[in-house]
Amino acid sequence: MLYAGCHLSVSNGFVDTVRTAQSIGANTFAFFTRNPRGSKAKKEDPVDCQNAMVAMKEASFGPLVAHGAYTMNLCTAEAGAREFACEVLCDDLRRMAYLPGNYYNFHPGSHVGQGTETGISQICDALKKALAPGYPVTVLLETMAGKGSEIGGRFEELKMIIDGVGSNDVGVCLDTCHVHDGGYDIVNDLNGVLMEFDRIIGLDKLKALHLNDSKNPFGSHKDRHELLGNGNLGAGLFENVVNHPVLSKLPMILETPNTIPGYGEEIAMLRGMVR
Ligand code: FE
Ligand code: FE
Ligand code: ZN
Repeated sequence: MLYAGCHLSVSNGFVDTVRTAQSIGANTFAFFTRNPRGSKAKKEDPVDCQNAMVAMKEASFGPLVAHGAYTMNLCTAEAGAREFACEVLCDDLRRMAYLPGNYYNFHPGSHVGQGTETGISQICDALKKALAPGYPVTVLLETMAGKGSEIGGRFEELKMIIDGVGSNDVGVCLDTCHVHDGGYDIVNDLNGVLMEFDRIIGLDKLKALHLNDSKNPFGSHKDRHELLGNGNLGAGLFENVVNHPVLSKLPMILETPNTIPGYGEEIAMLRGMVR
């Protein structure tokens, strides 16, 4: 069973979003825990969440992959802003407890000139604090394209965060556009990249995938998503992904520049690629 889905709005509640997902052939989805560029979060609705969990179980959904706000930078330089980002993370994980057993993915952060080591230690401090209550959620560090001072463009950096936090509730979400732009050649050597991931981080930590093609060439450190098959990754990569023994059971989230019906077509394409 392939778990495929896309980013969906949860503004009408989770039950409504589950129905939308089903209407386009999705059996997982991603959602922003709050306005992706802002920090406002809707008040949680426990009954809606509970009903959505039942509906997803009935429809054999895979785990959801929530996405933290892009603006949440756990290693920003100013202490007050960093503290605020940490509060956002803490509140997001608290709210994920209404949807127990799902994933919360986020961008590790940008060190904005403080240096990678300082940034990583600040990210670890925030994660330790946010995970301390023991909510039923696994946080996933997203592999990044290595744009500017972004942390997470190298597997080694993600490994340092995982070790620094020292919790089993930290994993990785691999974004195909990001790793390609970051200089990991998944197009010509997917197995080699996965072996490197295994050597540095361990494939047991790989919990979810973001499926995006890339508008930019290999190693560009750019991060511009493209429709599957229309960019520098090409349809063949996604065919390899959906049939790969290590990857095929993971939730796969589309973040391509598409409409909801268009996502339905991409999901159908992925399902059609399964051999
Ligand atoms: Fe992301
Ligand atoms: Fe992504
Ligand atoms: Zn991206």
